[in-house]
Amino acid sequence: MRLILLGPPGAGKGTQASRLVKKHNIVQLSTGDMLRAAVSAGAPLGMQAKEIMNRGELVPDQLVIDLIDQRIDAPDAAQGFILDGFPRTVAQAETLDTLLVKKNMQLDAVVELVVDESELLTRVENRVQETLKAGGSVRADDNPESLKTRLDAYRKLTAPVSAYYAGKGALKRVDGMAPIDKVATAIDGAIGA
Ligand code: AMP
Repeated sequence: MRLILLGPPGAGKGTQASRLVKKHNIVQLSTGDMLRAAVSAGAPLGMQAKEIMNRGELVPDQLVIDLIDQRIDAPDAAQGFILDGFPRTVAQAETLDTLLVKKNMQLDAVVELVVDESELLTRVENRVQETLKAGGSVRADDNPESLKTRLDAYRKLTAPVSAYYAGKGALKRVDGMAPIDKVATAIDGAIGA
């Protein structure tokens, strides 16, 4: 199964992706996680991305396209994958289409978690508190200023990605404001699994 999960920061993509991974024995491919790993490792890619990410802006398309291009060929992705945080621009979505055709792979569904924007700041604040309580370290971009930039980027650059997939008849929209298990059931219904 090959899925794309769309939705703004704090929509619950990570939570739902983890569940789908276990249920379908597929891998979660989060470009945000891959970039944060590159930053922690001090890799050249991380150096390039770090400040952009901290500000809440998007890194250049080609960086994340290269990451995904390589990653979806890895043996652990053979059963399928769920893309979380990619594609985030229409250019990324178009390039992904080309890549998938070249690799002879098809997408099964594109699911968008629809949430009220007014709720997102609270959700991200809760995530920060929970991480701190669990003794973890908080993401450098989980602060009100970067979150505002992330939401602006979402509205301007990523919302059109939903329209792109809707235009192809591939988009399934799910109410992301419902309790976690209700969202899960709605996603399962939307992807027919
Ligand atoms: P995320 O963990 O998905 O919220 O991503 C964290 C940050 O990584 C984003 O705010 C961007 O700076 C960068 N990033 C992750 N995925 C992408 C992408 N597909 N395109 C551009 N930048 C990305």
